Amino acid sequence: MKKAVLLSGGVDSICLTYGILPDIAYTVDYGQTVADREIYVSKYICNELNIEHKIIKVNCKELGSGTLANCEKSNISPSEEWWPYRNQLLITFASMQSIKDSVTEIYLASVKSDNFHKDGTEVFYKLINNLTNYQEGNVNIICPTLKFFSHELIHKYSVPLELISMAHSCHISNLACGKCSGCIKQLRVRHELKIK
Ligand SMILES: [Zn+2]
Repeated sequence: MKKAVLLSGGVDSICLTYGILPDIAYTVDYGQTVADREIYVSKYICNELNIEHKIIKVNCKELGSGTLANCEKSNISPSEEWWPYRNQLLITFASMQSIKDSVTEIYLASVKSDNFHKDGTEVFYKLINNLTNYQEGNVNIICPTLKFFSHELIHKYSVPLELISMAHSCHISNLACGKCSGCIKQLRVRHELKIK
């Protein structure tokens, strides 16, 4: 049974990757503004941990919304960076690739503070896991991090700080803007851990 993780190069997915050491890590370039940086960080992490890294590239920028797509946010967006059906999209691409790779478990790292959008909730993960399980391939979608905040994950998995300090969470640019909710979350984590 092979395991894969969805690795974006942010704090949470770095922690999960370190914690479960999957056979493969997938980074999806779906047309998000920060794809280059996410790929760079993810490659680095996989190299350090000796994990196979695959990039799945399908440009969906036209269908995106908000800061990650560099366009106006939709009027139903719960946040600046919300992208409609994003986790569902990423899970679908990863599931498609998992069939080729004989992977039966795909792990994602949504955390407690992600539950303001529906696709970061326990209900969502139950539903999507039921759906992929029903389909050919019987892929399991697993999110073991829902009950934790980012800084708690770092402790839970005892993640080395040099890996955390590589993380990229900015939603706006490949160079951290320092102002968006992703950057603020990262600064908060660094503050909690007393990293400068
Ligand atoms: Zn930012």
